[in-house]
Amino acid sequence: MNRILIVGGVAGGASTAARLRRLDEHAEIVVFERGGHVSYANCGLPYYAGEVIQERDRLFVMTPEKFKGWLAVDVRTGTEVVAIDRARKVVVAKDLDTGRTREERYDRLVLSPGAEPLRPPIPGLGLEGVFTLRSVPDADRIKAWIDTRKPERATIVGGGFIGLEMAENLHGRGAAVTVVEALDQVMGVLDPDMASMVHAHLRAKGVGLVLGDAVRSFERRDGRLVAALASGTEIAGDMVVLSVGVRPDTAFARESGIACGASGAILVDAAMRTSDPDIFALGDAVEVRSPVLGKDVHVPLAGPATKQARLVAENLLLSLKDPAAEGRSYGGALGTSIAKVFDLAAAAAGANEKALRNAGIPYEAVVIHGSSHAGYYPRALPLTLKALFDPASGRLVGAQAVGFDGVDKRIDLLAETLRRGGTVSDLAGIEHAYAPPFSSSKDPVNILGMVGENVRAGLSRVVHWHEVAGWQARGAFLLDVRTREEFALGSIPGARNIPNDEVRARLQEIPRDRPVLVLCGVGLRGYLVERILRQSGWTDVANLTGGYKTWASATAGQAGPGESLAAPSQGTVEGTADVVRVDACGLQCPGPIMRLKMEMDRVPEGAQVLLSATDPGFAQDVASWCRVTGNLLHGVEASQGVLTATVEKRPRNPSGPVAPGESKGATFIVFSDDLDRALASFILANGAAASGKATTLFFTFWGLSVLKRREKAAVRKDWMGRLFGWMLPAHPGRLALSKMDFLGLGRGMMKGRMKAKGVDDLETLIASARKAGVRLVACQMTMDLMGIAREELVDGVEIGGVATYMEAAGGSDVNLFI
Ligand code: FAD
Repeated sequence: MNRILIVGGVAGGASTAARLRRLDEHAEIVVFERGGHVSYANCGLPYYAGEVIQERDRLFVMTPEKFKGWLAVDVRTGTEVVAIDRARKVVVAKDLDTGRTREERYDRLVLSPGAEPLRPPIPGLGLEGVFTLRSVPDADRIKAWIDTRKPERATIVGGGFIGLEMAENLHGRGAAVTVVEALDQVMGVLDPDMASMVHAHLRAKGVGLVLGDAVRSFERRDGRLVAALASGTEIAGDMVVLSVGVRPDTAFARESGIACGASGAILVDAAMRTSDPDIFALGDAVEVRSPVLGKDVHVPLAGPATKQARLVAENLLLSLKDPAAEGRSYGGALGTSIAKVFDLAAAAAGANEKALRNAGIPYEAVVIHGSSHAGYYPRALPLTLKALFDPASGRLVGAQAVGFDGVDKRIDLLAETLRRGGTVSDLAGIEHAYAPPFSSSKDPVNILGMVGENVRAGLSRVVHWHEVAGWQARGAFLLDVRTREEFALGSIPGARNIPNDEVRARLQEIPRDRPVLVLCGVGLRGYLVERILRQSGWTDVANLTGGYKTWASATAGQAGPGESLAAPSQGTVEGTADVVRVDACGLQCPGPIMRLKMEMDRVPEGAQVLLSATDPGFAQDVASWCRVTGNLLHGVEASQGVLTATVEKRPRNPSGPVAPGESKGATFIVFSDDLDRALASFILANGAAASGKATTLFFTFWGLSVLKRREKAAVRKDWMGRLFGWMLPAHPGRLALSKMDFLGLGRGMMKGRMKAKGVDDLETLIASARKAGVRLVACQMTMDLMGIAREELVDGVEIGGVATYMEAAGGSDVNLFI
């Protein structure tokens, strides 16, 4: 009877044992497991500590008794294999209770000892309250500490997926959490632009983030665990979870002369055989081939371990029958992974940009921002995908996904395409299951592939967020083709705004002798304009992939040393940043802004206010308000009609409302609907614009009639709105003079005189003002009061509120109320 010994009884070892028994009823199978449990869900441990998984027993997939009863496998827990005598084909197994050792003979040996958490030589690492997480006892210790000590503050060292899962679970148990990461981003499998979305989400959840700073020591001071960082910053907390990576747990194998790689992982061939043909190895303990990088890599993930187990069992049994047989080959591991980070999911497969650069592999990258399902079906949530591919063949070499819903299925589609050596065209052609609650007829994965195809076909050239500065340095014309409203909320400095629907009519404003970099919100409108320009004779033109959204996210402060939301500049971080949530839904302008100001006055510097509002003008107002006050707007998220702004309190902007180098402008409040006053407003505004002033006309109350379009818009109104509609002038052509109108006679005379004197009529003046870049802002609050809908106003009008006016007025040296 063949005797097969297995070292390690969890993911890889237990799966191998089970498969072996299914294939061979007669072999003697013995599993040695150092710990007290076999086949448990180590991936579930963070959620057990966080009490998301409430029953401890649920962690145990199998028990030694079940292994015996179901599979006739002899499991010896509490037994460590300390040496292998390969010449005699025996292992030395130590009973950890008695300390006694005994030799065990094998025909074939399987090594699945996994990997252990890295414990760098940091002074104070052994202090009570500093934990690592690998096994059930580790999780028990962490949980007991939380249960009994009820930590107010926790420090996570390491921003990998275990660290972030622990951050979420400790946060869930009431601790204020700070994550310290030595690199300048969390989740090293992602590229920085994708990781930046995780950073923003962590901060939005109130997790302090210290990036690019390493822990130098731990110390217990005044009852607290203080982590001292390389930068001099100190973080005080009540517990620490160290999660800075893993290292293969292979000392006994190395010492027995089995070949290991630089990472300490056991080297195996395609059949998962070690340098000793009687010994197989798998899981976190081995290096496997990366089909993308073409070299052996360490991929410590459960998926590859359990799939390798099946192969090891088959090949091992084959080798017992025919030692010369090749066996089935393992196709390598792509490192397909996913992590839940609070509401967000972040996933990757294949290589990232850094790995490709290091390996000297050429690649192109495209980013798209889509939705989890059809936008018109409720709760469509943002989803960002990135593909890295070989520019010559289009073959996929890496993929990443970040979003709130449907990230898992997208990364699985991408990973499977990658595994099969598929191209961006294959992505474009994937036939997916579609109904509005699940996807769109063109899934984001299809769109990602189509964007990649367009690049390969030369229809589009993409520029990446980190290349923008280079384009600017070579004199590129940055063309932002979003709407004026979006542009006003922020753009790349130096960009010029021509909304995409005006580009065809304004081609003469785009230089032909400079490179043109087009940008829009997410990349789609930019592509449309890029196509217009290419077909109109421009050749040196490109589109910013991922648009302003990616650029803004990747270039925003990611919280580094001294800049952490949790880190006051004095150098001591006290856990996480304060986050105050304010519900201002239902309030009309300026209500939300006033509520925001009230909260910002209360909170300390560095704290964040998350304010939700339903006033549609709020998105613009909050951006303006932040620019004026110097506070930091992390972003405005729109979900199901609710706008949620995240604003961080910053020291007061000493330069006041006018940005350095900005010229003073002119602002006019147009309150009246008198024809003569409206004419005066536009004549003055056009004059101000002509003299180089940034000019804003803010229309409120009766002045709104000046902006009405001639054609009647089909809008539903309540009875008050209809009443106002009947009483107020229908459009500028119906405005009356403030004096001598005589039931319209005076107005007719005035128009005649203007024509005779060559003075433009009001509608021509409005058109000229728009052409000259005069901002026309309609007051949201009075529009609501008077039942005026956006569709009733002429094109190009921004909807704003008091903050929009205040921002414009703050930067003006001419302010008139007409
Ligand atoms: P393990 O499952 O670690 O099993 C190795 C076993 O061998 C250990 O129990 C060890 O005690 C035993 N052993 C070691 N040396 C000896 C010896 N000399 N004698 C006897 N016994 C020995 N992966 C994912 O893909 N997704 C996840 O969400 C995920 N979450 C995770 C969360 C946590 C907290 C942890 C720790 C890991 C997570 N992983 C996850 C990684 C995943 O658990 C591992 O990749 C997988 O368990 C590897 O299987 P393995 O058999 O190689 O090692």
